[in-house]
Amino acid sequence: MDQPLRAQADALEHLLKAKSLLHDNDLQAFHHQVTEQWQPRNGARLCARAWTDRSFKAQLLTDGRAAAASMGLDMPEHHRSLVVLENTAEVHNVICCTLCSCTAFSIIGMAPGWYKDLEYRARVVREARTVLAEMGLHLPQAMRIRVWDTTTDTRYMVLPYRPAHTQGWTVQALEALITKESMIGVARLEQPPANAAVTAPTGAA
Ligand code: FE
Repeated sequence: MDQPLRAQADALEHLLKAKSLLHDNDLQAFHHQVTEQWQPRNGARLCARAWTDRSFKAQLLTDGRAAAASMGLDMPEHHRSLVVLENTAEVHNVICCTLCSCTAFSIIGMAPGWYKDLEYRARVVREARTVLAEMGLHLPQAMRIRVWDTTTDTRYMVLPYRPAHTQGWTVQALEALITKESMIGVARLEQPPANAAVTAPTGAA
């Protein structure tokens, strides 16, 4: 945290404590939630189960909040709905918050720093393909891109496209593959084409 922000946070904390509106236990409980509970492994559990359980996937795509609750994953009250966006071989979804930094943080973890930057928020809605390429995700021209702007009460999660090479994997192995970035939609999980790493043989003319 930079110094002006730190000073503001300290002043606010001091004021709230002086008025008995904030207690040390509150801060410790919040820190515990952020560092131990609001982690992307929660979303990874939902996605891996959706990949392997057709009826759960249908529930997740219909009412994400209820599907998450059925696996013991709560969301704050003001996150009234969790809309799950399914990536396919032809369609790619990416999420943002043009106003600030809203995410389904109890499910996919806290928003990364770049997600809050004006640069990402302003540009991804206008030139998503270019922004994603700059972040290392080069999508084929034929792939459609859908950008979703989060609101206070509607939170999103991308359901990544299951890579073909994961057939037969355990649910635990699938969960470990799924990243926060893939659930935001700035990464996909497919392996690069087999010929992408091919280099000229040594000694070739
Ligand atoms: Fe926001």
